Amino acid sequence: MPYLVRENLFIGNIGDAAEVLQNGSSEISHVLSVLSSASISFFAEWRSGIAIDTKEIKKVYVSDQDSLEDTGHGSEFALSSDKLLYLLEYAGKDLKMTRMATPIRDMESENLLDYLDACLDFIHTSRKEGGVLVHCFAGVSRSAAIITAYLMRTEQLSQEDALASLQQSCEHVCPNDGFLEQLKLFERMGFKVDHSSPLYKRFRLKVLGDSYNRGEKIDTSKLRDDPGLSSKEVSLIETTTGRENNGTKSGVYRCKKCRRVVALEEHVVDHTPGEGETSFGWHKRRNNSLDNKLGGQDQCSSIFVEPLSWMTPVKEGAMEGKLSCVNCEGRLGYFNWSGIQCSCGSWITPAFQLHRSRVDISSV
Ligand SMILES: [Zn+2]
Ligand SMILES: [Zn+2]
Repeated sequence: MPYLVRENLFIGNIGDAAEVLQNGSSEISHVLSVLSSASISFFAEWRSGIAIDTKEIKKVYVSDQDSLEDTGHGSEFALSSDKLLYLLEYAGKDLKMTRMATPIRDMESENLLDYLDACLDFIHTSRKEGGVLVHCFAGVSRSAAIITAYLMRTEQLSQEDALASLQQSCEHVCPNDGFLEQLKLFERMGFKVDHSSPLYKRFRLKVLGDSYNRGEKIDTSKLRDDPGLSSKEVSLIETTTGRENNGTKSGVYRCKKCRRVVALEEHVVDHTPGEGETSFGWHKRRNNSLDNKLGGQDQCSSIFVEPLSWMTPVKEGAMEGKLSCVNCEGRLGYFNWSGIQCSCGSWITPAFQLHRSRVDISSV
C-alpha cells in the first residue's frame, strides 16, 4: 500500500504503482515513476502478466529543457543533450491516469539535481488535480529523495527536517548518500537548481569527473564554448558589465603573452583557500565583486575553470597534461582529472588550472 505523506501525496514501490495503474484508484490520479527505465514495459519485465495501456503525451529531452531555460549554457555537460528528461503519458485502465516517468538510477553518482525541477513541478500540478503517487522500485531511495526535495521546496525545510518529516509517514525511507549530498546543495542554492551557482558548477564538474573515472568517454561537445572564438559573447559581457548583474560575470581572462581570451569569469570554479578536498562543501561566495574575490584568493597561485573546448588534450581523453594557449602556444596551466593542489592547500578535483602568472584578468 502506498503511504500518505501529505494531502494528495503518496509514496510507494513498483508494486503499488502496478496495482494503481492496473486497477485504478479512488485516491490517486497521477503517477510519477522514477525508475532506471522510463518505459512502461519495465513493469512487465518486473512481473510477468502485467499489461498497462499507455498513450504518449510527450517526451522531453534535456536539450529541450536547456532551450526553454535560455540560460545560454544550461546544464549541457551534466546530462548528455539527447538524454530523456521525462516521458508524459496517459496510462492504466481507460487511460485515466496521467503518468510521468523519469529515468534515474539509484546510484550515488546519479545526477538527481537536473531532474528535480521537472519532477517537483509535476507533483505540484498533480496535487491540485487529484492525488499523486511518487514511486521508484523499492520506495526507499529515489522516490524518497524526490519527495524530500518537494517538502524542502514547498515548506522551506532543511534537508534533515524534510527527510525526518517524510520518515514520520513512512519510516523505512532512506535516500542514498549521493542524493542526500545533492539535496544539501539544493538547500544551499535556495531550494532551486541554479546553474550559475558555484555550488552547481562544482557538482557538474564532479559528475563529469566521476564519469571520466568510470572510463566513460568525455563527450567533447559538452565542454564549455571557447570564449576566444566567440567575440559576440565577450562583447555582450563587456556591454552589460556592472549593470543588471553587478559585475559578477564581468571578468575576462587573457593569455598574458598574446592577449587571446582564454576564459570568462563565469567559467571560474571558486574554492575557499586552504580548505581540503571538498567536492560538495564549497562555500558560497559572500561577495561577488571582483575586487573582493581577488583579495580573498590572492594566496592562490592558480585559478580553476570548467573544461573549455580549446583544451585539446582534454578532448583527446588524456588523464592529465599541459594547457597551452591555442594562439601562441604559451604555457597557461595544467589539468588533471584526479585533482591538483592549489598553492593555498586546497585540493581541486577534477582540476583545470590556469596559472595567475600566465593570464591577465580585466574587468571588461
Ligand atoms: Zn587556492
Ligand atoms: Zn597566448
